[in-house]
This record gives sequence, C-alpha cells and structure tokens, in this order.
Amino acid sequence: MKIHEYQSRDLLQKFGVPVPPAEVVDTPDQAAAAYTKLGSKLCVVKAQVHAGGRGKGGGVKLVRSADEARDAAKAILAKPLVTPQTGPEGVPVNKLLVAAGVDIEKEYYIAIAVDRGGGTPVLIASSEGGMDIEQVAHDTPDRILREPIDPVAGVHPYEARKVAFALGLQGKQIGQAVRIITSLVSLFLQTDASLAEINPLVVTPADDANPDGRLLAIDAKIDLDDNALFRHKDLQALHDPTEDDPDEVRAQEHGLSYISLDGNIGCLVNGAGLAMATMDIIKLHGGEPANFLDVGGSASEAAVTEAFRIILNDPKVEGVMVNIFGGIAKCDTIAAAIITAAKEVGFTVPLVVRLEGTNVEPARNLLEGAKGDLPTMQIGSDLTDAAKKMTAAIAA
Ligand code: ADP
Ligand code: MG
Repeated sequence: MKIHEYQSRDLLQKFGVPVPPAEVVDTPDQAAAAYTKLGSKLCVVKAQVHAGGRGKGGGVKLVRSADEARDAAKAILAKPLVTPQTGPEGVPVNKLLVAAGVDIEKEYYIAIAVDRGGGTPVLIASSEGGMDIEQVAHDTPDRILREPIDPVAGVHPYEARKVAFALGLQGKQIGQAVRIITSLVSLFLQTDASLAEINPLVVTPADDANPDGRLLAIDAKIDLDDNALFRHKDLQALHDPTEDDPDEVRAQEHGLSYISLDGNIGCLVNGAGLAMATMDIIKLHGGEPANFLDVGGSASEAAVTEAFRIILNDPKVEGVMVNIFGGIAKCDTIAAAIITAAKEVGFTVPLVVRLEGTNVEPARNLLEGAKGDLPTMQIGSDLTDAAKKMTAAIAA
C-alpha cells in the first residue's frame, strides 16, 4: 500500500527523523493561511499524490508570499498532475502539503528497500540525490551505494557510519546521518514497509547553531507491505481510496485479480502463472498486454462476466485473449460468461479463445452455438496459436 508524503513525514517524525515544519491543506485559501502560520519567507506547496516525480511535473512550487502560496495551490489543484511516473492523463490532486522552505547545500538519497535476490532489506544511498536519481541509477550505477541490512538485528552503528562516510558527509553531519539511517531502518522494520525512501535528504548551510549544517528529510515515500497490514490497524487507516484504480477496486469486489497495463490486448486467464505465461507469449509474438486479469480457480459465471465488462470497458483494448486451463475452473463457466458478455456488452474487437481442461467439450459446444453473438471470435488450438491469431487480428 502506498501512502502520501504527508503521512510518510508523520511516520519519519515519529521515528525521530527531522523534517521541516509543514501543514496539510485542501484549498488555496488554506494554503495562504498555512504560509502565514509557518512564518518562513520561503515555503513550498506540494501536490499530495502517490506518484513521484512531482517536481518535474509542476507539482512542487516554491512560494515567497501568502498570495503566491494561494496561486500555486490553485494551479496545482486545478488539473490532474502529469509526471514522468503517471500516464499522460495524470492523477487528480486533492490535497497539498505546504512546507517551510529550506536552504539546500546538497541533496542526498537514502532508502531502505527489499533486496529480493539477497532476501534482506537493503540500505541504498547516494550523494547524487534529488530529482534525477533515476538517471544517476541508470547512467552511473556505481554512485549508488548498497548495504544489506540484517532483518532481525537491524542496522549496526558501524554500517550506518560506513555509509555516512561513503556519502562524503563530514563532522557533525556523520552523527546526524547515523541517527537518521538508524531511525529509517527501525521505521522500515517496525511498519513492515517494502520501501522507505528519503529523496532528497538535504544538508543545510552552516550557521552558528549548526556549524556543519543540518540534515533534514525534504521528501518521503513509504510503501507498506499489504500482506502485513493486518498487524497494523493504525497504518490501514492511511489508505486513500481516491488513489485506487477504479477498475482494480471493481475487480477486487468480485474476487478477481486485475492489474491495468499499457498495451492493447486484454487478457482473461486463470491463475497467476498462466497469466504470466500468457503475457510472455503475447509479447513474444509482438503484442502488448493491456492488463493482467486472473479470474482464479473458483470464479462464478457472474464474476467472469464482470471480468469481461472491465476488459471491454477499457478504451485501450483492441483485442481480447482468453486463455483458460480448466482445473478447478470449468471451461463451460467461462464459455457461458463469454456469451453473456457478448450479449450485454458485445465484442466489437477481435476475440481469441483458448480453452483446455475440465468441461472443455460442453464449453466448445456452447461457443459453437453462440457464433452469431460472437462474430469476431477465433479459437486458438494452443497457446502459441492463440497468441499468433491475436496479434495478427489486431494488426489486420
Ligand atoms: P518529487 O520527488 O516528487 O519531485 P520533492 O519533494 O522531492 O518532490 O521536491 C522536488 C525538489 O523540490 C527537491 O529535490 C528540492 O530540490 C525541492 N524542494 C522540495 N521541498 C523543499 C523545501 N521544503 N525547501 C526547499 N526546496 C524543496
Ligand atoms: Mg523527491
């Protein structure tokens, strides 16, 4: 589960990571009032959406007066925010964070993520933090440090110090970094997070009170492991349903696993493994899946019909491929759902059906008898044949 920056900031603070003061607001007038309340000449107005890259999309604006804060808030709330991490349609913005501006000497990156290969959390850090960290990771991966973390013992002070030195931090910055890294690791482990990222972690210029500057978390991104949420009632409350994909919610309500993707071939399959294989073979034959829709083993005809409604409602879908291996699922249930969907919504796009397994004969008979309702249907004799027919039908 993703949570918002303002919620991540609260968690960071709770675990002892210093952040600049800030207020959460929903309207331009509240943003102006927050600017005045914060009492900092420089403030920043930030869109609260789950997507990153907000700075590049105009979702982070520096302001120097209450009026500027109001105008910035108005501009950000006015339209969906498009960033390198959203689609071209962008995401709606409903909330803003107004934070005190910080003088930045240098931006760093630190995060704890899961290293699936190593089977441990991993501390990732870079002295090249900020808005271009993806580019740094791509072009100069050697500038990204990785330090595995013991999932039981947490981070040892010497490990945190090693990273602080490797980042080039100096003097009192080292102690601050060690405390921040230790806090971030505790947060990651205690909340069952899958990602806890601070980008940028900044060093402020030196002043009398802080001769080596201060380290502050300016942006925070935390993802929580859905499978562990049952042990965190307080964190469950951070879920923001307005960020959910409406089709994914609709699918969930019917017990379907649905993930929307970027391609144009809707896939209806049973079982995650078969879904993966189906997507692979579609790609192998030059196609691009529009979604991953797994109806599972015991889906009812009504649920499968809903699955077709979801797929056919997606304007990206230019073809539908059905690939079912009837083990517990029955092929005739799927066939009946195809026919109901054809009658209700209609398949105006090419449909390729590959069925095998339990009740395949009655399923084939059903489809044969409903050919009039399914003018765009072709039968795939096996997975390769189905994928070839699908990509050919779309190209035609
Ligand atoms: P995103 O990662 O979504 O682009 P950030 O919160 O990291 O959003 O903001 C982008 C950039 O804006 C930061 O790298 C930083 O340079 C600047 N910025 C963000 N918050 C502040 C702040 N409170 N004071 C000064 N600069 C800020
Ligand atoms: Mg950031």
